[in-house]
Amino acid sequence: MPGTREFVVIGLGRFGGSLATTLYDMGYGVLGIDCSEDKVNRCKESCTHVVQADATDEATLRSLGVTNFDVAIVSIGHDMQASILVTLNLKELGVPLVIAKASSEVHGKVLKRIGADRVVFPERDMGVRLANHLAVDNIVDYLEITPDVSIVEINATPEMVGKTLRQMDIRAQRGVNIVALRRANQEVVVPPGPDEAIQPGDVLVALGRNEDVRRWQNGDKA
Ligand code: ATP
Repeated sequence: MPGTREFVVIGLGRFGGSLATTLYDMGYGVLGIDCSEDKVNRCKESCTHVVQADATDEATLRSLGVTNFDVAIVSIGHDMQASILVTLNLKELGVPLVIAKASSEVHGKVLKRIGADRVVFPERDMGVRLANHLAVDNIVDYLEITPDVSIVEINATPEMVGKTLRQMDIRAQRGVNIVALRRANQEVVVPPGPDEAIQPGDVLVALGRNEDVRRWQNGDKA
């Protein structure tokens, strides 16, 4: 629920800045820290507090009260040494959840090793996501569960309309589960029964392996 969690975002570049702004717009408390005056000024309106400081200094982090935050996100890419040092300090200070951005596989490995609870690779992950999007016709949205398994939203095709899920038999034939149907009037049928028929304008919410979803949607041609 917005307002119940507090986030500290260290490094207000493109990734950190957009993350901080989005959390703040959602109603969460956000402390932004960056050593650049320019970045701090840019984020003044889009964080609860912004501080210009070098986050590699443990005493500075402590005095900023980072230990009072539930989640810290370290979004420093270029300066790997700074990113590692900040992550290490945050864990040593006892921040419960530290998420760190990695700019390479090696960087990610080190961050994990020194105690980051989660490591994200935004550029790599966005590339994978976009490729999955582009590989399936008709896709509306996409949520990755693991690198191989996703929930995808797919527009009903004219051939599907009027058929029931039982008749389509997607689970048995394709290994893909339809977990919900979103009607054109935004009503959501969840979970849809086997005799639920597809209507024009439906969006099918499907859970399955990317490979299976791709085969099902692209008619085995991919
Ligand atoms: P982007 O998210 O824009 O892709 P990036 O991965 O290129 O960012 P950097 O440019 O290395 O990452 O750093 C992001 C931000 O972190 C910058 O605004 C930089 O000023 C800030 N930063 C770097 N080192 C420190 C530090 N020691 N303390 C505080 N902020 C820092």
